Formats: sequence, structure tokens, C-alpha cells
Amino acid sequence: MYADRFGTLKGISRVQTGAMTTCPECGAGLTLHDSIEVGEIVDCSTCGTELEVVEENPPVLDLAPELDEDWGE
Ligand SMILES: [Zn+2]
Repeated sequence: MYADRFGTLKGISRVQTGAMTTCPECGAGLTLHDSIEVGEIVDCSTCGTELEVVEENPPVLDLAPELDEDWGE
């Protein structure tokens, strides 16, 4: 089925998943989960700062603006 083929391709594209990046606030290493998306907000497990994903590959985080989550997702 097409769905299976796409699923396989997606799997291949996720080889770099679980990538590590660095918290821009405290410098601690962060391990990202395997399906990050630009605009997603993640919390630093070390300092608790909310970080926004600004690039997926390679993953780059920036400090998230202090806004209510209102991305219409
Ligand atoms: Zn941090």
C-alpha cells in the first residue's frame, strides 16, 4: 500500500531522530524526540525554559516567546 511506502520513507528520513541539541538558555544538552516540527515548543529538562524549534535538520532551538499556545493546530 502507498501508506506503507510513505511510512518507510518517513522512517528513513528520521535517521537523525533523537538528535541532541543544546539549550540556548543554560547550555545543557537536550535530546529531542523523534518527530519535532518547526514551531513546536519543548521544555528544557534542566532549566525548565520553554524553547521553540526553529530548524528541524539539524535541530535548532531558540527561546520561545512567552505567549499562549495559539498556533491553531
Ligand atoms: Zn536549559
